[in-house]
Amino acid sequence: MENCIFCKIINKEIPGDIVYEDEKVLAFKDINPQAPIHIIVIPKKHVKSVLEADGEMSAAIINAIQKIAKEQNIEETGFRVITNCGKDAGQTVEHLHFHILAGRTLGEKIV
Ligand code: AMP
Ligand code: ZN
Repeated sequence: MENCIFCKIINKEIPGDIVYEDEKVLAFKDINPQAPIHIIVIPKKHVKSVLEADGEMSAAIINAIQKIAKEQNIEETGFRVITNCGKDAGQTVEHLHFHILAGRTLGEKIV
């Protein structure tokens, strides 16, 4: 989608520090990390939020998260997965994305 920053990363129009890619999913390091490991996981198809994700897309994302957790060596230590949806949640990029946060003991709330 035009003017979507995450679609531009998918299309290699702007650089992304990519850590995982498959047919349906891309993952890259967050540009403003909130934890030692902060990875953004997105579907390659542009949808706005979880409200628009279907079962196939959701399964592909969960499968990618499992693989990333293994590759990043955070299966044992643990991690947090967050998705913001809409204004009150503070969603700033309107392309569905999941944050993976890890690498330190996370706070009781969000990070
Ligand atoms: P959210 O507040 O859930 O919409 O999160 C958007 C996230 O995308 C923020 O954590 C940003 O730091 C991150 N972000 C924005 N632009 C980029 C970019 N070009 N590369 C990597 N991460 C980005
Ligand atoms: Zn997009």
